[in-house]
Amino acid sequence: MKFDIMTLFPDMVRTVLSESIIGRAQDAGTIEVRCHNIRDFSTNKHRNTDDTPYGGGMGMVMTCQPIYDCFQSIKKDFAEGERVRVIYMSPRGRIFHHEIAKELVQYDRLVFLCGHYEGVDQRVLDEIVDEELSIGDYVVTGGEIPACIVTDAVSRLLDGVLADKECYEDESIAGGLLEYPQYTKPRTFLSREVPEVLLSGDHAKIRRWRLEQSVAITRERRPDLLALHPEAEAALLPKAKKRRSKGSET
Ligand code: SAM
Repeated sequence: MKFDIMTLFPDMVRTVLSESIIGRAQDAGTIEVRCHNIRDFSTNKHRNTDDTPYGGGMGMVMTCQPIYDCFQSIKKDFAEGERVRVIYMSPRGRIFHHEIAKELVQYDRLVFLCGHYEGVDQRVLDEIVDEELSIGDYVVTGGEIPACIVTDAVSRLLDGVLADKECYEDESIAGGLLEYPQYTKPRTFLSREVPEVLLSGDHAKIRRWRLEQSVAITRERRPDLLALHPEAEAALLPKAKKRRSKGSET
């Protein structure tokens, strides 16, 4: 899958995405990330990429021309029939979520526009962007970190990026609930013990304990998620009760 990132700060993006699992996915050719410096496309004498806002107000607005020309240069590389989505990272956008990552992984190529300063001239957004995506209800200084977040979350859904599909299917959110607590060696840390059940070797018991923990944590922190997955709590009911509660539904 291909990711094109239009930015004024390409090194910021390169640094983040060249490390760890996403860096290895690039080395293996599972994903291709290309950063495009918007400033390289400025036809302005001083290679400016922003100007003062019409109507007055604070800050600077990114101008249309360098962004539009940058996009035209990326477009030259689009293959026939390639499924492409152009995304402007913006606090005004649809709030990014696991289900959106699953939608986006269906594309062959994602093109991100990273804003800076007060944002981007609306006319170039209207011309090239398919949708705006937000990473949450807060404002950061630029679209680079948001674009890295979306690139990371989408990439790890691709075959071969993680060791096994189970790695993400069994996680917080993707599995429907928040994840149970995890432990590794040593067995004792500052007098804190690993829960006995995890040392028992009884896989059925371990599965049940993990589900109980997931349900408890989700109930406490995200009751909205638990309400979407009543089957998780039902799976913890004793068998007779489960039959009765099934009967009462019909
Ligand atoms: N004036 C803009 C507004 O009120 O919507 C915010 C501009 S912000 C300081 C600069 C850039 O950071 C934006 O153009 C956008 O690309 C990015 N950005 C900031 N917060 C974001 C968020 N929550 N999600 C995605 N991108 C964000």
